Amino acid sequence: RTTEQWKQIDTAHHMHPFTDFKALASEGGSRLIVKADGPYLWDSEGEQILDGMAGLWCVNVGYGRKELAEAAYQQMMELPYYNTFFKTTTMPATELARKLVELAPPGMNHVFFAGSGSEANDTNVRMVRRYWTLEGQPERQVIIGRKNGYHGSTVAALSLGGMSAMHTQSGLLPGFAHIDPPHHFQLGWGEDEDAFGIRAAGWLEDKIKEIGPEKVAAFIAEPIQGAGGLIYPPRTYWAEIQRICNEYGILLIADEVICGFGRTGTWFGSFTFDIKPDLMTIAKGLSSGYQPIGGVLVGDRVANTLIEKGGEFYHGYTYSGHPVASAVALANLKILEDEGIVDRVGSDIGPYFQGRLRELSDHPIVGEVRGIGLIAGIELIKDKAKHEFFPNAGKVGTLCRDHSFRNGLIMRGVYDTMVLSPPLIVTRDHVDEMVGKIRRVLDLTAKDVGLL
Ligand code: PMP
Repeated sequence: RTTEQWKQIDTAHHMHPFTDFKALASEGGSRLIVKADGPYLWDSEGEQILDGMAGLWCVNVGYGRKELAEAAYQQMMELPYYNTFFKTTTMPATELARKLVELAPPGMNHVFFAGSGSEANDTNVRMVRRYWTLEGQPERQVIIGRKNGYHGSTVAALSLGGMSAMHTQSGLLPGFAHIDPPHHFQLGWGEDEDAFGIRAAGWLEDKIKEIGPEKVAAFIAEPIQGAGGLIYPPRTYWAEIQRICNEYGILLIADEVICGFGRTGTWFGSFTFDIKPDLMTIAKGLSSGYQPIGGVLVGDRVANTLIEKGGEFYHGYTYSGHPVASAVALANLKILEDEGIVDRVGSDIGPYFQGRLRELSDHPIVGEVRGIGLIAGIELIKDKAKHEFFPNAGKVGTLCRDHSFRNGLIMRGVYDTMVLSPPLIVTRDHVDEMVGKIRRVLDLTAKDVGLL
């Protein structure tokens, strides 16, 4: 089929996630991505695109890794599927659980597998509620998340998340509440960052008191908030959050779907910020996106109660611990380890990437560059001196994203923050190419809005 024919089929039949279907049709459909290698993609017109988003925060080891294709092939030939319900398991699922426990923070000794991050976060909701019921406090039902946070698209996962448009469209389930994220640039500008970190963490305590501590079950957050604008926490934030969770005895869930598996230069964002979660959500980088897989790393506090007091837990997915996905995830973790990729992000390519991106701070529409390792946000602003944001948050970000796409670089526009999270195998040359393209794209965007 020609690209044009594909586009017709696409707009006629394909309902894309997070897309205005009608607008997409009027623009002539989506771009057809046909192959990839390393950090590059190619579309059906043969154009090469640098993937500044690693798929969607997934492809940590880059595209075209034969080891992962072979792991899938071998596992499919040996045992393509068996369930892990009741009293059966498979070698890859068991081996992967053991490996994850070895990598995880101390005390996280169990894994529950799911098929995606959304399923894993649904699992968190069920585990948290089950935990408090077994502990004799069934009234502890409320889970607090953060505004603009994203934890998945199932109805429970979107309720954990704080994207108001999703709540409006699908209904926020009862038993969920949200606080503002620690967005210093937007909510604390001019305030000392450390002081702001403490104040922002205090919003959790305010919310707990408002709801009644006896009703609060857990708090969920990403170490660095990926959705909602790459919100990087002030260094005081997480210690204070941890203190508040301990004081009220509430469970802490770290959503590591984006931050996990090397993105921040450590195996988990929880190590970067010294977070001690009770539950950790994993997905995406676990298999570098080569197979759909997610899961929950379960700490001793929750696991002991569920196992000792719980009896049968009526919860599971057909694809929990899928052997092919598990085999690929194991091979992916082996690549990350054997090639020293996580250390390299922490000590070499991450600092280089962050340093080069910060050079863009001199651009007239760049308000702030933030991030760590290979995750970064560039916040666009209308007037730096006055700290004045663009009206209609998201419009300029979308413009910038589209310019970027047309110029052979994939960036995400989240409101007016440009998000970058390239595959962890990028070289300095790739980073230089990225930064060159971003500057060009920022110029084009600034011209469009009359600021250059
Ligand atoms: N949590 C976070 C932080 C995410 O970024 C995502 C996906 N973008 C999810 C959960 C949901 O994962 P999935 O799309 O695999 O269901």
